[in-house]
Amino acid sequence: MPAPALRLPSPLAELHDDRLRRRDIRLYLKRDDLIHPELIGNKWRKLRYNLDAARDAGHTRLLTFGGAFSNHITATAAAGYYFDFETVGVIRGEPHTPLNDSLTFAVSRGMKITYLDRQTYRRKTEPDVIAGLRESFGDVYILPEGGSNALAVQGCAELPGEIAADFDVLCCACGTGGTLAGVAHGLTSGQRAIGFSVLKNGDFLAEDVTQLQCSAFGQVGGNWTINTEFHFGGFAKRTPALDDFIADFRARHGIQLDWVYVAKMLYGVFALVERGAFAPGSRLVAVITG
Ligand SMILES: *Cc1c(COP(=O)(O)O)cnc(C)c1O
Repeated sequence: MPAPALRLPSPLAELHDDRLRRRDIRLYLKRDDLIHPELIGNKWRKLRYNLDAARDAGHTRLLTFGGAFSNHITATAAAGYYFDFETVGVIRGEPHTPLNDSLTFAVSRGMKITYLDRQTYRRKTEPDVIAGLRESFGDVYILPEGGSNALAVQGCAELPGEIAADFDVLCCACGTGGTLAGVAHGLTSGQRAIGFSVLKNGDFLAEDVTQLQCSAFGQVGGNWTINTEFHFGGFAKRTPALDDFIADFRARHGIQLDWVYVAKMLYGVFALVERGAFAPGSRLVAVITG
């Protein structure tokens, strides 16, 4: 497979919207969703250095974990296809028959799918579970669930440096917090980052981001906070208010927002703008991670 054409730096576009103008706020969208149709956004940034590390260590097979709808699973499958690795996806729960669209895509990109019951899946980082997987699948390079490890965080840290416009606040959605850990580290002084949790009770994310930064950079860095108000019931949950926001955004701007992550983050950004949480004249960047 020839290496795919990746759109990097990803495009940056200012969003023109009355709700922002009224508050004298400028908002730029960092379109990581346009990097590549199959290697989307933060998932590519997280995989990039892991692929190098796997290859340097002589690995030919990647193994990773996720739910049946995981963007990280599909991105890993695509990365294997384009960069010449075999891939194994370890999926939480009972086998899916027929396969859903995400897993069908992953299989079409050559991924071998296997399942762990929920109880075992919860113990997926424990030595006996890992040993069992290595017995079945050989000497694999293991990526954690969601793809967030030190190399992934380092990959995400490159994002702010791609932004040519001056800005004050960078906003992104948080699932594992790996993206926030990286982008916050890449900020310059005077800039700050807000991660919007898409999980209910997302307060634990602050500890995870701290740990990810320590493993990636040896220290906690960058001025970041996590907002936990805009989860809309929890991961992969939605409400009519969120759906209305998505429909309205498409009507205004012609952009269909990913509802699991990006729409929740942008809803939060607009709510904070409306509340006057940003000083007039503030310049924001929202990362469209997928
Ligand atoms: C995975 C994902 C996220 C979450 O990123 P984390 O690094 O896990 O916090 C955000 N947006 C999209 C579109 C994703 O696929």
